[in-house]
Amino acid sequence: MAKLHTVSHDEVEFYCPGCRKAHRISTRIWTWNRSVETPTFTPGFLLYVGNDCCHVFIIDGELQYQTDSTHKLAGQRVSMPEWREDVHGKESEVQA
Ligand SMILES: [Zn+2]
Repeated sequence: MAKLHTVSHDEVEFYCPGCRKAHRISTRIWTWNRSVETPTFTPGFLLYVGNDCCHVFIIDGELQYQTDSTHKLAGQRVSMPEWREDVHGKESEVQA
């Protein structure tokens, strides 16, 4: 099962269990290993959502949250959840 969802020819998204929403990634900016099952992106991501920060490295399908993230998964490593359109697609629409 794929962990990434293709948004367009140069954009993919994944579900972030820290922020509990989808994050989009431009494959023009980040280097991607082209795997949707064990994705690796370089460099890491530093996202600001309002006053919250989500700082994550994605390596071999694992989300490695850095300690400066403001959500509860800061400092933890979790497996990237499989993308589910019925759950994650809806949730990201609500957030938009
Ligand atoms: Zn996040």
